[in-house]
Amino acid sequence: MLDLFTNKMIKITLPDGSEREYQEGVSSMEIALSISEGLARNVLAAKVNGKVQDANLPILENATVQLLTWNDTDGKSTFWHSSAHLMAEALEALYPKVKFWVGPPLENGFYYDVDTNGESISQDDFKKIEDKMLELARQKNDYVRIPMSKVDAIEYFTEKGDEYKLDLLSNLEDGSITFYRQGNFTDLCRGPHIPNTGFIKAAKIMNVAGAYFKGDQNNKMLTRIYGITFPKQKELDEYVHLLEEAKKRDHRKLGQELDLFTFSEKVGKGLPLWLPKGAMLRERLESFLRKAQVRAGYQQVVTPHIGSKQLYLTSGHWEKYGKDSFQPINTPEEGEEFLLKPMNCPHHCEIYASRPRSYRDLPLRLAEFGTVYRYEQSGELHGLTRVRGFTQDDAHIFCTDDQVEDEFKKVIDLVLYVFKSLGFEDFSAQVSLRDPENKAKYFGSDEAWDKAENAIRRAAAEKGLKTIEELGEAAFYGPKLDFMVKDALGRKWQLGTIQVDYQLPTRFNLEYIGSDNQKHRPVMIHRAPFGSMERFVAILIENTGGNFPLWLSPDQIAILPISEKYQDYANDVFLTLQEQDIRGYVDHRDEKIGRKIRDAEVNKLPLMLIVGEKEAEEGKVSVRRKGEGDLGSMTIGEFIDYAKAEINKNIPQFR
Ligand SMILES: [Zn+2]
Ligand SMILES: [Zn+2]
Repeated sequence: MLDLFTNKMIKITLPDGSEREYQEGVSSMEIALSISEGLARNVLAAKVNGKVQDANLPILENATVQLLTWNDTDGKSTFWHSSAHLMAEALEALYPKVKFWVGPPLENGFYYDVDTNGESISQDDFKKIEDKMLELARQKNDYVRIPMSKVDAIEYFTEKGDEYKLDLLSNLEDGSITFYRQGNFTDLCRGPHIPNTGFIKAAKIMNVAGAYFKGDQNNKMLTRIYGITFPKQKELDEYVHLLEEAKKRDHRKLGQELDLFTFSEKVGKGLPLWLPKGAMLRERLESFLRKAQVRAGYQQVVTPHIGSKQLYLTSGHWEKYGKDSFQPINTPEEGEEFLLKPMNCPHHCEIYASRPRSYRDLPLRLAEFGTVYRYEQSGELHGLTRVRGFTQDDAHIFCTDDQVEDEFKKVIDLVLYVFKSLGFEDFSAQVSLRDPENKAKYFGSDEAWDKAENAIRRAAAEKGLKTIEELGEAAFYGPKLDFMVKDALGRKWQLGTIQVDYQLPTRFNLEYIGSDNQKHRPVMIHRAPFGSMERFVAILIENTGGNFPLWLSPDQIAILPISEKYQDYANDVFLTLQEQDIRGYVDHRDEKIGRKIRDAEVNKLPLMLIVGEKEAEEGKVSVRRKGEGDLGSMTIGEFIDYAKAEINKNIPQFR
């Protein structure tokens, strides 16, 4: 390949800043080889001047080159996209009539949308497809990039009778078209791909589903085949294990098993019903935060679930989201229009505006566990993490310009307190900024945005938060600091959020009288440490696997009488503990004690109190702690002291 080019040398800059000289036309793979053979064996693709491309593509100018391996997101996604081609090759070998639409990589794995031409592909066929993929992978076929003229490309797929690729081609410009071939399979694709199929050492077909051609339900239903591949069998095994764990911890499954919440088609999709135990858990979380908020100077307010359309015209929500919201509710008479509340902020603005405010009133911190309703397509709904009605642990802080940074820092303290108390150690913070290319999407002046963005940066830095910045992720009224939590399986979720807002106070014409006796505009901070009760509980369930800390556990104790004879004593113990705010139940069933213990374990009861003849005579209980086993017998008083100390251990006071 090198002899096609001149002897001109080019300068290659590597990620560590080092510079090396190579002959013009050198490929990233050759660069890798010149560094070490071990490295070259792992190179999947390369980022050349910021663009991901095939590792064997010649480089024609001075460039920065980052070699991509399995450890890079771009490396992985090139691997998985290339695996989609491999799966297509296997499918074509097994089902010669299959036609192909598109096969993109996913966060985990890839899919290919195919027209099976009447063939049915089901779970029973997965193994056959996997085996074929591995057989083809072992041939170590190169992914060969073939630039094509549009005429030739059209001719190829016309001959093949593939109307899907012809459809794709119709939108492509001549001169920009490439084919990729590996083994016996040729696809229309702009790449990039891994060097050869030999890198793929393990394959699993995950699922098949229907998917409309181009996502349009008027079009033909295609078959979407999901797969995942790995460079080592061991990694596939680990992935499958993780999936099984995730299934066990799925909050939808545990929520049902532990009697926390349910859904009813009759009530409506995406509208959770909290069962007594779930309501108890939620109540505990609310009162935990409420206590901290009182200490942090918040005041509780309550506002209705609907608001007049005019309110949302003023706030800008109608203009921004009206079309995609639940549509207005009309009154039978008087022609009034109301909206289900999508956010609590406009109501809180009107509380602020309900009387004249002075600088002495600020900061004014109004908190509400406010239920809001947002329309989501039914296909997007998912357990408690994606719902149509949810309760935010919302608050709005109205303050002066000078107070913004300080208030922001106080909110960060509160969020960190919440996370720490609930065992979320692994989180990151994201500064969500405006997209500078698309300023029209946002309300407010450049000056206000710059001011707010810098205030967030400074506050986060001062609190020692490690942050990443994301352009285009801000709310329409202001920049945000979002807290992303990793659950026990390493999945990322957005929970808490803090947002600075200079726009709503303007839209609602909010004012305060300053020390100079002049009118000023307050700034507003929106914040929600949990995010929403629904999502937070979902993550908490998955993070703990349903083994909640003692203070949160809906039932803290189960009292298990050894036989019917000790029912009365069990009831006495129960009442005594209830008076001490220790929650639980007596297992009155006529079952063997072994069975009662097992069931309490399945229900993830933190503490079991077994009572029989000896306990009843001595006024004691035999205590078993989940995960710790037998703690011996204690008097009721000793047990109360023990339980209270354990409950309080995990909830330090705020500040
Ligand atoms: Zn491709
Ligand atoms: Zn708000």
